[in-house]
Amino acid sequence: MRPMHPPIDSKLPRVGTTIFTVMSRLAAEHGAINLSQGFPDFEPPTRLTELADHHMRQRGGAGNQYAPMTGLPSLREAIAAKVAEYYGCHANAETDITVASGGTEALFCAIQATVRASDEVILLDPAYDSYEPSITLAGGRAVHVPLQRPGFGIDWQRLSDAITPRTRLLIINFPHNPSGATLSRDDLDTLAALLRDTRVFVLADEVYEHMLYDGRRHHSLLSQAELAERSFVVSSFGKTYHATGWKVGYCVAPPALTQEFRKVHQFVQFVVATPLQAAIADFMRSCPEHTHELPAFYQRKRDYFAGLLAQTRFRFEPAHSTYFQLVDYSTVSDLPDVEFARLLTTQHGVAAIPISVFSEDGAAKRERIVRFCFAKHEATLDAAAARLRLL
Ligand code: PMP
Ligand code: GLN
Repeated sequence: MRPMHPPIDSKLPRVGTTIFTVMSRLAAEHGAINLSQGFPDFEPPTRLTELADHHMRQRGGAGNQYAPMTGLPSLREAIAAKVAEYYGCHANAETDITVASGGTEALFCAIQATVRASDEVILLDPAYDSYEPSITLAGGRAVHVPLQRPGFGIDWQRLSDAITPRTRLLIINFPHNPSGATLSRDDLDTLAALLRDTRVFVLADEVYEHMLYDGRRHHSLLSQAELAERSFVVSSFGKTYHATGWKVGYCVAPPALTQEFRKVHQFVQFVVATPLQAAIADFMRSCPEHTHELPAFYQRKRDYFAGLLAQTRFRFEPAHSTYFQLVDYSTVSDLPDVEFARLLTTQHGVAAIPISVFSEDGAAKRERIVRFCFAKHEATLDAAAARLRLL
């Protein structure tokens, strides 16, 4: 007989397997076209993978050994140059920028560095799934404020009402997954005014910062000096360079916040894969056009997919940003979204993400909306649309 272990009292009793893992696994089991979990079905730029290969093959150096804990200086410098170019933000590569193992690790570290037992952390629903478990592990309490419908903008009154003396952190995610909502310059100023006399830090998840369409611009928290002073701004090279499996991201924050961030990072991850960092640093310097051209690249995909969806019974407004398209399926089915996404995957051969799982309130459960990822070859989108047209 197997020896017994002591009872394990879960620290995350309400957490199951992430919806991304669940849906991708279901898609694989049923041979469905996977438009659920967000990842491209095309390769990163060839030059970028060549650079990674080159750095991995370097002999006689330390290119395959531990990088500095804070990230390779060349990558931190490249990030500093990028945030200066895009957001007019003069981040110091030594004191303000830390390379992390993807956006996920950066988010985790920022939360652990700021949240203590009984602190409140405000989330705007639908909220990316990694935030709340990190808050729970830190002993904090998530306070959910729904984004407004339609449009998924911030409901300023509800946000203001949610701030209490115990609020320690506000987590925002614009460009927003899953809705594609973006922030305006006025939104940043309103947020700055709202937080001015509070002790609230902001954790800004901006991993989709380079995917905005129809001439929209991303207004990073780094572009608003007052907000930048109280913010951890997180991004991910996985999205920008079609390399979600590399898991390289970063956090920009003022020196005192970065110092605390690094105290956590050094014991969660310590360092990030050295040759990947070197490759990204070289690529950022030698191919800046990649990020300049990314909005047009993804806008073409969005438009292509929208053209296909127009031939189905789904209703939608073309996404303003990100590589996700929300669709209203109420003309097709009355099922709740979790069941509909499952049915779509198992019976109709196209996997999607139900979005109610990112919200706490019951109203979201009554919406009939699922998310498709359009970071795919046209042939993949064609094949999916051929199946969706049958519904
Ligand atoms: N935040 C959001 C909103 C995301 O969609 C993702 C996507 N995967 C992440 C964070 C995590 O980024 P990474 O894969 O770099 O950890
Ligand atoms: N961010 C990706 C999405 O929204 C998934 C990442 C993950 O699987 N954790 O689809």
